Amino acid sequence: MLSAIFNLNPDAIALTRASDGKFIECNQKFLDQIGYSRDEVIGNTSLELKLYSSKKRQDYVEQIRSENSLYNFEVKLRRKDGTFIYNLYSAQFITLEGEKIILNMGKDISNLKNAENELLQSEGRFQSVLDNSLDVIYRFNLQTGIYEYMSPAIRTLNYEPEELMSMSNDEVMSRVHPDDLQGLVSDLSSINDKGEGISEYRFKGKDGKYRWWSNQMVIINDRNGKPLYRDGFVRDVSQRKKDEKKLLRTMAELKRSNQELQQFAYVSSHDLQEPLRMVTLFSQLLKKRYKNRLDDDADEFIGFIVEGAQRMNLLIDDLLTYSRVTTHAKEFEMVDLEKVLDGVLATLYVSLKENKVTLTHDSLPMVYSEPSQMGQVFQNLIANAIKFKGSNKPEIHISARRDDKKWIFKITDNGIGIDPDHQEQIFDVFKRLHPREKFPGTGIGLSICQKIIKNHGGQIWVKSEPGNGSNFYFTIPDK
Ligand code: ADP
Repeated sequence: MLSAIFNLNPDAIALTRASDGKFIECNQKFLDQIGYSRDEVIGNTSLELKLYSSKKRQDYVEQIRSENSLYNFEVKLRRKDGTFIYNLYSAQFITLEGEKIILNMGKDISNLKNAENELLQSEGRFQSVLDNSLDVIYRFNLQTGIYEYMSPAIRTLNYEPEELMSMSNDEVMSRVHPDDLQGLVSDLSSINDKGEGISEYRFKGKDGKYRWWSNQMVIINDRNGKPLYRDGFVRDVSQRKKDEKKLLRTMAELKRSNQELQQFAYVSSHDLQEPLRMVTLFSQLLKKRYKNRLDDDADEFIGFIVEGAQRMNLLIDDLLTYSRVTTHAKEFEMVDLEKVLDGVLATLYVSLKENKVTLTHDSLPMVYSEPSQMGQVFQNLIANAIKFKGSNKPEIHISARRDDKKWIFKITDNGIGIDPDHQEQIFDVFKRLHPREKFPGTGIGLSICQKIIKNHGGQIWVKSEPGNGSNFYFTIPDK
């Protein structure tokens, strides 16, 4: 019976003679653990089998000698094949047939030990990530109000981690820039509610200088959902903040100079109108009254003046219209484009008739816009479609289609078309592709359209093949 207990025991059991330490008996479990056969074990000492280091064996023996027994002594055993296992050994003296024997019992704890080692290793890895991070990483205990961990990156502000960790939260918060404190406090309360979030604020270094911090925080709860820690991952964004400030300043300057420029264009073209009117008027008078009274050259020169003044008039009118798009913009409202188009067609009635134009259109929507500007876009595009007609009888179609959050309008004609190389440039101010004698105009119409459409948050472009007509598209956001 005893031998059955001995062999079936899940723990390793080995008997060694107290006098010389030789194994005199062991169970199968012991043999399985160390990988030796029974013959190799019996009659040898653990030292001879090199089961563990002589230092460890000395501790083992000394402990059992001084206390007569030993409990849960951890040993790392070297197996026959060179691999290692971990055991917790308990031992005590017994007397067997008058001889003093040590009864050793070992529990295999290799799995536990390996798991523990892995945990230590992975903890070490995490620690090294935290310690070497360029960002400042910290852990704030919400219960005690103490910073439990502060990564060495805090040295960039000339603090030792321990310095901040020994401060109260109030002391740490007193280093936040006074202008940013309120924002941070409100961010913290929302982070406490939501469990995470980012706050940006200035934090004072030991040298008294402020740095901009972008602090990404997360709340760590216990198993019952009670908030335990607030972990912070802090990045120094001082340079980015500086760049942002510079960019905002440049943008404001740009906006101001742009407004100035527009105002200048408006005022100068407006003020030019008056003297120009005089030049036009008197050159026309001159032409009327003195025709054939001076010599032929004079008649020709006067003709040039009249024509030049008229052209200049057209240009200045168009320039004024162009600068009015933004300087005199009216409030937007819901506009029925059907009505707008009706008005435009009435204005263009004579031209449509004279050129025998067939104009068709889809039903047009209501859009949030400035009615007179929308009319200007339709008028310019339709007038161009008529002006740049080819040899065919002009046919124009206006279509409207909804796409996601915008309306796409298309004005199709069967005119001369546009070379692909110039399809972007034609929207530039004064850009024209033909001599004035062939097609009159100032080259401002499409730039006005573009400015109006951009003003409405849309885009304008053209698709065309020379000789095959043009398709002018523009979009207006659907609000
Ligand atoms: P303008 O009509 O006074 O020349 P725009 O800015 O309206 O000025 O147009 C610029 C140029 O784009 C025109 O000179 C012409 O070359 C070209 N263009 C505009 N619309 C059309 C069209 N429907 N078909 C062909 N070419 C066009």
